[in-house]
Amino acid sequence: MKHLIDPTDLTKQETDEIIALAQDIIEHREKYRDSLKYHKLATLFYEPSTRTRLSFTAAMMELGGNVLGFSDAKSSSVSKGETVADTVRVVENFADVIAMRHPLEGAPYVASQVARIPIINAGDGSHAHPTQTLTDLLTITRELGHIDGITIGFCGDLKFGRTVHSLIKALSRYRDVKVILIAPDELRLPDYIKRDVCDRQGICYREVHTIEEVIGELDVLYMTRVQQERFLDMEEFERVRNSFVLDCEKMQGAKEKMAVLHPLPRVNEIKPEVDSDPRAAYFRQVENGKFVRMALIYSLLKWKDDPEHQMPEHPVYFEDSSIRCRNSKCICNSEGVRRLYRKTETGAIRCIYCDNLAGR
Ligand code: ASP
Repeated sequence: MKHLIDPTDLTKQETDEIIALAQDIIEHREKYRDSLKYHKLATLFYEPSTRTRLSFTAAMMELGGNVLGFSDAKSSSVSKGETVADTVRVVENFADVIAMRHPLEGAPYVASQVARIPIINAGDGSHAHPTQTLTDLLTITRELGHIDGITIGFCGDLKFGRTVHSLIKALSRYRDVKVILIAPDELRLPDYIKRDVCDRQGICYREVHTIEEVIGELDVLYMTRVQQERFLDMEEFERVRNSFVLDCEKMQGAKEKMAVLHPLPRVNEIKPEVDSDPRAAYFRQVENGKFVRMALIYSLLKWKDDPEHQMPEHPVYFEDSSIRCRNSKCICNSEGVRRLYRKTETGAIRCIYCDNLAGR
């Protein structure tokens, strides 16, 4: 059985298959109309969401299936103190697949450890958002015709932006992708992505402070919102909230075929005047999200009993109750889960649930 907790839970081949299937669905929608009749998707959303939840719902409905779940943890047994693991053990009796969004990092991973049905991570804290990644990969493919060889600029909140973390991981498996990181010092990409993903996979990246100095090199400009809800220090948020604004003047310096992506919602980082520029792909990206989720749900259910499609071997990990994960937003610091860690090549200890540093 396959879960999708992190983009690398799918092999590169499985990822490409899902992107290709999404394209087939776009071209032959009627062929898939009843393909998941009598199947149920449970959407367990412990954190606000518009696009992702509606997109999962629309995807399942277009495949002929049904949807149940909650969009507010307060209306579920969580408010009575139920753990993620227990909620999943209950819900799996009512559904064939679960999409979970949670503010605690690692929650969908905990769910996948106990579930008998596929779990899809629909976003966990600032950690990962693999279905947005599939959306982004499909969008780049449709806008540019290829992913290999692109130069992509990530702009904005690269620290808390989970969509950025997941997309960089996925792109590290394509050929000759160059990454330019455009962020203020306070919002730079976390170290674990730089070391464990970029350095390890040989992704060529550099860090800059303005859009203007690099826009002419880019095939994709990936804008992001400053993630207000993740800041512990509101003064810091105020300092960085308006760091970058894309407008028509800046777009003048871009290639004729550059695509502007944004996982949305936007706050003020892209001026509405850019929307009518043919390179503004962010609303097309939303529709791609529905098609790719159709392809994902369809594939996970098809692969469920196929020994060819199993979860990848996890990095060797160890249990040590004297070590603490330093991330207060990690599920291991809130729910009674096993304390599991991995050692990186540089000797650092990282938490299995959220990838953050841990120590005694
Ligand atoms: N919708 C995206 C997410 O859930 C981006 C954002 O919220 O800024 O991560």
